[in-house]
Amino acid sequence: MVLFWRYALPIASIHLLALLAFVPALFSWTGLVMCLLGVHIFGQAITMGYHRLLAHRSFDVPRWFEHGLVLMALCCMEDTPARWVATHRMHHAHSDEEDDPHSPLVTFAWGHMGWLMLVNRDLHGLPSYDRFARDVLRDRWYMSLEKRPWSPLAIYALQILLFAAAGWAIGALTGPVGDAWMMAASMVVWGVLVRTVLVWHITWSVNSLTHLFGYRNHDDTGENSRNNWLVALLAAGEGWHNNHHADPAACSVQQRWWEFDLTYWEIRALKAMGIVRAITPARAERVAVATAAAASRAEALTAPAASAPRGALAQPARGDE
Ligand SMILES: [Zn+2]
Ligand SMILES: [Zn+2]
Repeated sequence: MVLFWRYALPIASIHLLALLAFVPALFSWTGLVMCLLGVHIFGQAITMGYHRLLAHRSFDVPRWFEHGLVLMALCCMEDTPARWVATHRMHHAHSDEEDDPHSPLVTFAWGHMGWLMLVNRDLHGLPSYDRFARDVLRDRWYMSLEKRPWSPLAIYALQILLFAAAGWAIGALTGPVGDAWMMAASMVVWGVLVRTVLVWHITWSVNSLTHLFGYRNHDDTGENSRNNWLVALLAAGEGWHNNHHADPAACSVQQRWWEFDLTYWEIRALKAMGIVRAITPARAERVAVATAAAASRAEALTAPAASAPRGALAQPARGDE
């Protein structure tokens, strides 16, 4: 077992630095509000961006919007899009089997964050990125993130500077300059570090809690995924994980009336605004559309042959189609 420093070091350091939140002088209501807003907004870069858009292509957006989501996802320090997507697709291909990168059936701690700490050659090797994330790596920016491993760190550091600058400006506008530096520190601690830790644990809960606790709508998925209301609440719908495993291509994970999927409704809102171009419906609707299309194709193929002997009478019939 070899420690995977690339993940272990930032995870340990940011958890330790986030403990600064317990220093009373570093608390501010502005920092707390930025933290809570950030948990949702940056969390959606993972849920909506990395998961539903890149890993499952369950909706379609212009490239500028996709890149915006990825930029924010990089501010969550959950690694590059290709690595995240490859890990997640590997999870779907081998859920709760030996090759699942993060099954909590090993132990809860392993499925939650232990798996990130050790080198997994199947996961981190080039063949897995080629097999599971080739489409993602076709994007030049995503490929460049792999070639320059320091660039995601630079993006994360840049956001710290931006949050500090915003905090300093808010502090300077509302009080003496001495307070401005404390507000800058508060914004970094709460707005970036605490938020990063919370978004991590929410993402990891989808891997751990929802493969252990909750109910199942689908017993035939061949793994142990569950629908968990607490994770659904924290992760904007992702907790309806058994529904997701039963139909991973669907944009929505909402199947019963109480299984509210906030992410899906936000994607619907983006569609109403003209940003989202297409949404993949649930399997039943996809099957109905495919069946109707197959039926009309078959009709188009058989119609001329069937009507040919009838000569001129066939023409108006075809024109009516
Ligand atoms: Zn799963
Ligand atoms: Zn998935």
